[in-house]
Amino acid sequence: PAPVLAVVGRPNVGKSTLVNRLIGRRQAVVEDIPGVTRDRIAYDAQWTGRRFTVVDTGGWEPDAKDRAARIAAQAEIATQTADAILFVVDGRVGATDVDEAAVKMLRRSGKPVLLVANKADDDRVEADLAGLWGLGLGEPFPVSALHGRNSGDLLDKILSIL
Ligand code: GDP
Ligand code: MG
Repeated sequence: PAPVLAVVGRPNVGKSTLVNRLIGRRQAVVEDIPGVTRDRIAYDAQWTGRRFTVVDTGGWEPDAKDRAARIAAQAEIATQTADAILFVVDGRVGATDVDEAAVKMLRRSGKPVLLVANKADDDRVEADLAGLWGLGLGEPFPVSALHGRNSGDLLDKILSIL
């Protein structure tokens, strides 16, 4: 079976947009995971001849109570089914308390976690990501899912950890 990459992060950081970038938009949905269909959807992806599966997580109500706990729980489920995690933050916002709660759990899983700073649409955002080192996940990888900036480099990086 193809290795599995789970895409995890707060609502609205651009996870689904990034997933569309990673899969090239023309890929069909390959699997709805039973019971949590609305929360996690798996897609087939391919890059430089290698296949992998991308799991998009989300579907939380933006105003849900206990949001941090719910996102951490969703992240935990994702780590159990994935070989590696893409943890996405909004590069324009920086790390929030919710991000820190999810990261604690992700680090405990022992699985490889790649920190992605999305919405790095221009050099100005990209130059201002130093605060994200505080999450303890190493160097943030800047991308713009909307414009495709750095998405090829991100795919190369993903394959190197899968
Ligand atoms: P999700 O809730 O994490 O899946 O986030 P979505 O993919 O639904 O995106 C939330 C919003 O952020 C949408 O309005 C997207 O168009 C926007 N967005 C996603 N990626 C980027 C990006 O790289 N730059 C900017 N400026 N906006 C983005
Ligand atoms: Mg989404």
